[in-house]
Amino acid sequence: MSAMNKALFLDRDGVINHDAGYTSKIEDFHFIDGIFELCRAAKRLGYLIIVVTNQAGIGRGYYSEQDFLSLTEWMKTRFEEEGASITDVYYCPHHPEHGVGQYKQESFDRKPNPGMLLKAAQAYRIDLPKSIMIGDKESDLMAAKHAGVENRWHLIDKGFAKISADEADIRINSLDQAAEKLENLSMVQAKSV
Ligand SMILES: [Mg+2]
Repeated sequence: MSAMNKALFLDRDGVINHDAGYTSKIEDFHFIDGIFELCRAAKRLGYLIIVVTNQAGIGRGYYSEQDFLSLTEWMKTRFEEEGASITDVYYCPHHPEHGVGQYKQESFDRKPNPGMLLKAAQAYRIDLPKSIMIGDKESDLMAAKHAGVENRWHLIDKGFAKISADEADIRINSLDQAAEKLENLSMVQAKSV
């Protein structure tokens, strides 16, 4: 049997790109400094890169599912060009109150629920305890906790002190710092095998 995989789970808005609120267009999509370096390091260290993103903007009717998918294709191409291919992107278009029509529903995929991470774990044989989640909101960290991801890093803007979802969550204030922590964690994990 092949060994299980480790994953670096990333929220999108606020981790990959600056969160301008319901980003749906390429011209509004601005990468956060350090994201490509972080993902290149993750790949080198053997992590799959999985994006898990709530996209209630679809459910609210702000943009279409096709708009989201087109933007995602562009984003994935940019990562490929940077030598940091994304393994997969999971998204949840639903919103329990503000969704329109079929999109108005509770969803086990919508963070803080763990559905997207659990689906990815099954599809890619991911060892969740050894994996990492980076998010800018408590709901990201809670989804990871519910899924059993033990390394939960809360990316917080400088000067914007916020309480993390759990005291086990580690605060970071840049993606450079995330890359450093990733190197260290990988070394620790290699020793414990
Ligand atoms: Mg976010």
